[in-house]
Amino acid sequence: MIDRDLQGIGMTSRRTRERLVQRLRDQGVADERVLNAVIDTPRHIFIDEALSHRAYEDTALPISYNQTISQPYIVARMTELLLEGGPRNKVLEVGTGSGYQTAILGLLVDQVFSVERIRPLQEKARKRLQRLKLHNVMLRHTDGGMGWPDKAPFDGILVTAAPREVPQELLSQLAIGGCLVIPVGDEEQALKRITRTADDEYTTEVMEKVRFVPLLSGTVR
Ligand code: SAH
Repeated sequence: MIDRDLQGIGMTSRRTRERLVQRLRDQGVADERVLNAVIDTPRHIFIDEALSHRAYEDTALPISYNQTISQPYIVARMTELLLEGGPRNKVLEVGTGSGYQTAILGLLVDQVFSVERIRPLQEKARKRLQRLKLHNVMLRHTDGGMGWPDKAPFDGILVTAAPREVPQELLSQLAIGGCLVIPVGDEEQALKRITRTADDEYTTEVMEKVRFVPLLSGTVR
């Protein structure tokens, strides 16, 4: 059976997605694997129905609990930064939120582990990912500042909420050669890529200014 809602029509169609991808290209996103994943992923199912007609605008949108689905440009850019210098077989995402970034990762790497501190958001994300048949994604309700020690080491870690400082725990869960893509800061945030080059050697690249919701501690049921 064809799932019409999944395919989208009009403002939620594949054609609309192709226009979004052109915008991402114009802003410098160049990795074709990432751009194809954006074309293949129906962002409108990650947003409440009342806002779904805006799904392919290049903006962050509210997803309740004071959280937002990230702007498509930033999702694409962070994914591109994560994949560069790969391979990234096993990836941890901190901050599942709507699950949109999780879905994009699910199309591009072997295994995705994603943690979220707000249970109701996680449950909605789980349903969406099942609908897209992304069975290589594992979700966990936990405070992601601690990472997911049982599943470490990771070839890549992508954080979608901003801590004031880089959590040491996340650095220690990187494989050698793995990288952490993370927004860091308070009011002024910078997107950083930190690569583990040896057991206790890391290199940091500062990429661009960004704006994310804060990384908070503890969990919400
Ligand atoms: N990638 C998501 C971004 C959602 S916003 C999307 O595009 O939909 C960031 C998410 O990080 C929120 O859902 C928030 O609840 C979550 N978050 C914040 N601090 C966290 C923490 N310590 N552990 C896990 N998730 C956290």
